[in-house]
Amino acid sequence: ARLGKAPVRPAPARPEPKPALAQAQSFDSLPAYKELKLQRSAADLIGLGNPFFRVHDAKAGATTQIDGRTFTNFSSYDYLGLNGHPEVNAAAQAALSTYGTSASASRIVAGERPGHLVLEKALAAHYGTEACVVMVSGHATNVATIAALLEPGDVIYHDTLIHNSVVTGAQLSGAQRRSFAHNDLQALESLLHATRHEHRRALIVIEGLYSMDGDAPDLAGFVALKERYGAWLMVDDAHGLGVLGKDGHGLHEHCDVPPGSVDIWMGTLSKTLSSCGGYVAGAGALIELLKCTAGGFVYSVGLSPPLAAAATASLALMLREPERVARLRRNGSLFLACARERGLDVGTSLGLAVVPVILGDSLKAVTLSDRLFQRGINVQPIIHPAVPERSSRLRFFITSEHTPEQIRETVTVLADELDELNQGGSLVERLMA
Ligand code: PMP
Repeated sequence: ARLGKAPVRPAPARPEPKPALAQAQSFDSLPAYKELKLQRSAADLIGLGNPFFRVHDAKAGATTQIDGRTFTNFSSYDYLGLNGHPEVNAAAQAALSTYGTSASASRIVAGERPGHLVLEKALAAHYGTEACVVMVSGHATNVATIAALLEPGDVIYHDTLIHNSVVTGAQLSGAQRRSFAHNDLQALESLLHATRHEHRRALIVIEGLYSMDGDAPDLAGFVALKERYGAWLMVDDAHGLGVLGKDGHGLHEHCDVPPGSVDIWMGTLSKTLSSCGGYVAGAGALIELLKCTAGGFVYSVGLSPPLAAAATASLALMLREPERVARLRRNGSLFLACARERGLDVGTSLGLAVVPVILGDSLKAVTLSDRLFQRGINVQPIIHPAVPERSSRLRFFITSEHTPEQIRETVTVLADELDELNQGGSLVERLMA
């Protein structure tokens, strides 16, 4: 062959575009999007700011900075004030400088970092289980675990207020899904009895501390039922770790039930443990199975090494400094007592880390949140469809780092603003007038 310039080939003729048979819908024509826009325009019309997606300028704990202004903050899950703690930061920084920011791929592919194993060992020791596995998100942990364990022909019983991730995992599994009334052992027993011949395997899923209401289940009662009906019991203790029990060990300590009575302990690293990710602790076979079959583990990146180190350091601090938990309990009780004194509806809250103030309509919740924001208090409204319309609320996350003054002042401002809002009848009527 002769060396030289390659002959110039004529460009291939471009095929004529085919006429479109159908056009994909534009996203802004989707009903859910239109509903969102309608809600936003209604809020704009009455001059309400958007309470969601505000940008915080620095670490958000008991206080936060937004647009250069300091707010008392009740929108952080940092229940024990460990986010940004010097020991937690130092652990994350040490891991960062050794391993970088990323585990780069699934642990099956990219291998372990020592921090994964150290964290899993510490969490397994906390629950007295044989093993533990951590994944990159709490939500993904529930989805992946439930979808890996159950299949069509099985059944999942869950509290009606269970977190979205459990419902999504249940749907993905193909198992039947049956919900029972909130914290209602009798309702679950009736369901278990009525459906006892309809499935092969059964899983009961409850939470430790319910994040909308701040109440907790009777763990001993659920353990008795799961034993009587041969079901597995899974506890999502996302909000219970660091909060429930005298030393914050979780739902088992709160209910004085050995942790070994629960088949699957699930939790997140994003709340008390001031990191990001989720975990499952349980029998060795369960964890081995999840590590080889749970999609959210097998096909997803391993936890970032600095985040694993931060969670390990936070867990150690939580266990070493139970006075943080005691402070959180005092703060929660104070909030609850002040709220009750002013006649506010706090539902079934135990007065620990989560206290809702139930208002009964979404507009009132959004308006009150806006008024509190004007007065230097950041708290999120929880509105339909996250909760039924009649139980729209403001939800306060209490931390060990709030001061008693911040709590008293907040409840006073809240009750005063609500009184003012209630004068003159319903907001909707006034707006229509
Ligand atoms: N379970 C419960 C009960 C939760 O409240 C949450 C999130 N708030 C999750 C799971 C998911 O956890 P993460 O945000 O860490 O993904």
